[in-house]
Amino acid sequence: MSGNDCIFCKIVRGEIPCHEVMNTETVLAFLDIAPVRPGHVLVIPKAHHPTLFDLPPDLSRDLLSGLQAVGKAVMAATDAEGMNVGMNVEKAAGQLVFHAHFHIIPRISGDGLSLWPQTPSDDHETLANLARTIRDNVS
Ligand code: AMP
Ligand code: ZN
Repeated sequence: MSGNDCIFCKIVRGEIPCHEVMNTETVLAFLDIAPVRPGHVLVIPKAHHPTLFDLPPDLSRDLLSGLQAVGKAVMAATDAEGMNVGMNVEKAAGQLVFHAHFHIIPRISGDGLSLWPQTPSDDHETLANLARTIRDNVS
């Protein structure tokens, strides 16, 4: 999908309204229309890049600065004690909008949200093999 048809590009261009929380030269942040928790914010590059892998370094730096600024503001505004920052990458991971974006979700101790259903592993041979395979794929 090109930037023309992209819903987040339309928000950046002002063709679709949003509840804006931060607007810089390169980064826009606004409330998610279907929040996981109140204060769930999306931090997006203004330029159209479909996934994490398409983001240029300078813009990635701006997005990280945006996450820090907006994250602090979200926590202050919602009396949160912490926050989850996440990006869904590709359809299999739940990416619905192919204009790369970070989610900020404010958290309070005991709020019951479970985002990381982990399974501990002591199978160190499997872990070592997997780590080696991943290392071999790092470019
Ligand atoms: P993802 O699944 O990571 O691609 O997330 C896309 C997010 O965009 C979802 O959490 C949606 O609720 C949110 N979303 C979609 N359309 C809008 C919109 N017009 N304004 C605000 N958030 C939106
Ligand atoms: Zn876009």
